[in-house]
Amino acid sequence: MAGKGEKVDIIAFGAHPDDVEIGAGAFLAKEAALGYKVGIVDLTRGEMGSRGTPDIRAGEADRAAQILGAVWRLNLEMPDGNISVERESVMKVARVLREYRPSIVLAPYWDDRHPDHVKTSQLITEAHFKAGLQKLEPELEAFRPNVILYYFLNRMEKYSFIVDVSDYYRQKQEAVSAHHSQFGPGGLKPLAALGVKAPLQFIESRDRFQGAQIGTAYGEAFLVKNAIPIDDPMKIWGS
Ligand SMILES: [Zn+2]
Repeated sequence: MAGKGEKVDIIAFGAHPDDVEIGAGAFLAKEAALGYKVGIVDLTRGEMGSRGTPDIRAGEADRAAQILGAVWRLNLEMPDGNISVERESVMKVARVLREYRPSIVLAPYWDDRHPDHVKTSQLITEAHFKAGLQKLEPELEAFRPNVILYYFLNRMEKYSFIVDVSDYYRQKQEAVSAHHSQFGPGGLKPLAALGVKAPLQFIESRDRFQGAQIGTAYGEAFLVKNAIPIDDPMKIWGS
């Protein structure tokens, strides 16, 4: 994609191509529309999925990134179904953070029924910390992003805040649908196995529910470990 190698404001990490779209696609589209540079990093090529070859999935992922307005999308080619939090994987992610220097990082929420999502969450959390340690691989300048926003995939529990994404929801739907091998007819086996007959509606219902919590049509929820500084609560709740 054009823009590869560019520094960005936000990097969204996912285990599989389509994770960031499902969890935070409309948020990414919104930030890109507001003029921020967004990069997407998939840890695996999704080769263990029962549908779609890695090549097909790579093409779908690039198309989805264009729809969202991302400046680039990388794939770290870690083994699908076997993401580990060992040193080399951590440093691989830390190098990406040091090279592209985002203010905000997105990672999947740490509690999820898919082990890859859990491991990805742990991996990004550890890499975020280690990227800031100058004595680790000192040839690349240390850098630690300001915050990790954890997004939700299969499970959503407590959240820290919800972003109004109503105006960008159509882009999210298009980006998710661009993963045709997963969401087209016969796709999305994992959710079907859980008895979810209509996965796109499942995602939409969740995002509508999240929007309802803040009085908007659609919302995407995030959890952060940091305290959230608020300058003036009246700007949010004053009438
Ligand atoms: Zn996934």
